[in-house]
Parts: sequence; structure tokens; C-alpha cells
Amino acid sequence: MAQLDADGGRAAPAAHSHAIVDDHRHVIDMGRLDMNSRSAAAHVDDGDSGSAGSDDVPSCVVCTEPLEWVAIGPCGHRVVCSACAARVRSIPNPDHRCCVCRTICPTVVVTKVAAAEREIAFSTLPAASEDGRAGEYWYCAAMSAYFDDEQQYEATKEAVSRRRAQYIAQFWLRVFFASLLGVLIGSIFAIGSNFAIGSPDWVSSVGIVSGFTVFSVGLTIIFYFKN
Ligand SMILES: [Zn+2]
Ligand SMILES: [Zn+2]
Repeated sequence: MAQLDADGGRAAPAAHSHAIVDDHRHVIDMGRLDMNSRSAAAHVDDGDSGSAGSDDVPSCVVCTEPLEWVAIGPCGHRVVCSACAARVRSIPNPDHRCCVCRTICPTVVVTKVAAAEREIAFSTLPAASEDGRAGEYWYCAAMSAYFDDEQQYEATKEAVSRRRAQYIAQFWLRVFFASLLGVLIGSIFAIGSNFAIGSPDWVSSVGIVSGFTVFSVGLTIIFYFKN
């Protein structure tokens, strides 16, 4: 069984065991994963010494919280909680890959851990593209997930839309400050060039200020979406 060292987070060499580092900088120790067991214990190292789930209570491989609701994809891994699935699968960077095996999971089914033993036939899931009731499930379009419990569906949907509102507010705040910076730098250049030429020319001043503003906002948007 592989063990992670406390500072580096690297897996020590061991037979039949390897570690996965995902885009969210979590190291998942594959040696401790047992997808078929309800007592699956997984270890995630995100900087500190970390703590593994106990043998009796299954824990989420991403946040290490005890698993109550689990998101299951077609690959069959049952080790990610619904809150982490919602975070990973929705904005700002929707990622539909399984946190364990990186298989693309176009949809997941969120169910109680206690009920997670049952087989889910993904091919027979009702077609859905909008939020709301879909057959015996509730569908959340923002994370492409089916829920078999209405309360959990509503709670997760609310958390996703709260995150979306935060993300949009953050985006516009950055655009606002970028434009302010552009106007400021543009004004400094415009004043400087007017002094150099001798007579103030408002047309070229407006041009310089707008140019810097557009440049600053453009750069901010590009970097925001690249992250
Ligand atoms: Zn989690
Ligand atoms: Zn998987």
C-alpha cells in the first residue's frame, strides 16, 4: 500500500499502486481506493498531513468529509460527494472527468451512500436538458446530474447558483477595476503627450484613454478565462 509523505505528497514506490494528481492539485492514493466497497477509504493530500477516512465511514476522496451523498458516473466510482461533484462539474471550469479514473462522465447520478450499492443503468436514464423532474429523478443542468432525492437536488442546485452569482460578481468587479486602471494609465499618457505637443488635443486624449482601457479590460478577460 502506498503512503504519501507529509511534505512532498509523493507516493512512495510500491507494487500495484500509483497516485493520481488531478487539476485541482489533489493527490489521490490509488492504493487505498476500493470502488466496490462501502468502506472505501481514500487519502487526499492537499498540502497538510491530511487524514484518511476511517475503515467504517466512507469519505469523499476530494474533501475527505464523510460521504453521505455520492455522485456516481458511468465508470462506477462511488467515492466523490455531491458537493465536490457540483464544484468540479459546474462553473467556472466544468470538468466532467471522474476525479479518480479521469473517465469522461457526461452525467452522474447523486444518491445516498446507503443506496449506492444498487446498479445504475445510465443508458436508461430519462433524457433531460433543463432543471426539474425527469422520470423518477430530478435533473440539475448546471452539473449534468440526476438526483433521486428532491431535497438534495434543491440544496445542490441552490449551492451551484450561489457559486455562479459569486463568479459573475467577481468577473464584473475585475472588469470594473481593469477599466479604472486603463483610464488612469491612459490619462497619464494623454496628459503627458498634450504637454509635449503644447496644445491640448481632446480627440487624441480620448483615443489614448480608450485604447488603454480596452487593452486593460481585454487582458483581464483573457487571463480570467485562461485560469
Ligand atoms: Zn467531497
Ligand atoms: Zn471513475
